[in-house]
Amino acid sequence: MKLLDGKICAESLVSDISKKVVGYVGSGLRKPHMTVILIGEHAPSESYVKSKIKSCASAGFDSALLRFPENITESELLAKISSINADPATDGLIVQLPVPKHINPQNIINAIDPEKDIDGFHPTNFGRMTLGQKAFRPATAYGICKLLQFYEIPVKGKHCVVIGRSNIVGKPISIMLSNDFDIGNATVTLTHIETPRELLLDETRRADIIVVAVGIPGFVTEDMVKEGVVMIDVGINRLESGKLVGDVDFENVSKKCSWITPVPGGVGRMTVAALMINTLMAYENNFNLL
Ligand code: NAP
Repeated sequence: MKLLDGKICAESLVSDISKKVVGYVGSGLRKPHMTVILIGEHAPSESYVKSKIKSCASAGFDSALLRFPENITESELLAKISSINADPATDGLIVQLPVPKHINPQNIINAIDPEKDIDGFHPTNFGRMTLGQKAFRPATAYGICKLLQFYEIPVKGKHCVVIGRSNIVGKPISIMLSNDFDIGNATVTLTHIETPRELLLDETRRADIIVVAVGIPGFVTEDMVKEGVVMIDVGINRLESGKLVGDVDFENVSKKCSWITPVPGGVGRMTVAALMINTLMAYENNFNLL
């Protein structure tokens, strides 16, 4: 078993980005700029936002963290997004999810200018990506593809099983792996909560690559996988003990894997790296550098 190390891969990608930024700034351009909106107090979100801002510094980007109280109204938030959309000094905008319950997350996602939507959640980017067009690709799914590419894991022609169909992970990674992309051209089965257990087992037991994003610790067990499987564990679950674990029973499943992502230090790091790639792309679009 070998580790698909998200830390090493992310650092390499961010280092490449920072070299490009040095060149752009040296030619007289401003730095790329990411703005992150954080609402209320939510410990996991605090930690995700912190790592995004830290990664901006490593990439040579400017960043701004805008904090709003839990009781901000949807219309106030939409007005803020609208003003950032109109600000030429911001290339990429993230509204950290989840938003408080009184705010409809889809209204927020839809309000972000698709040209600044570095999370890749806006229907315009999701639609373009699905059609195989140039787009900001959803960051976690894009990060997984970059990780597979970095470790030269063959994907074309492989049988991939995705467990979980969320709009931010399961659905986009199933589309991306099956599309005619550089990292793609796999045959993909997307499973979800309504997938009968026997069917899920049939699929996972013959999968070459499994991507799991269900948010249930230990969901994937040793008996569910074949020898040599490539296992991508997207889950981030905090146990009562405080320990962070994924959706895979790492200790036992890893013995059968050819490659596996650790948690932490796997997909999470790659999500942030993909945001940096998307921000650089937004910036290069703005300055017609592509
Ligand atoms: P989500 O929105 O809660 O979606 C979970 C998905 O799992 C749903 O599609 C659900 O099916 C499916 N599911 C639940 N129980 C299942 C079962 N027994 N069998 C098959 N499918 C089942 O979660 P998410 O946002 O995708 O996140 C999943 C996990 O990944 C969480 O631990 C989250 O913290 C983590 N995450 C990590 C990153 C990262 O950067 N590493 C990024 C995003 C999320 P239904 O649709 O039918 O309900």
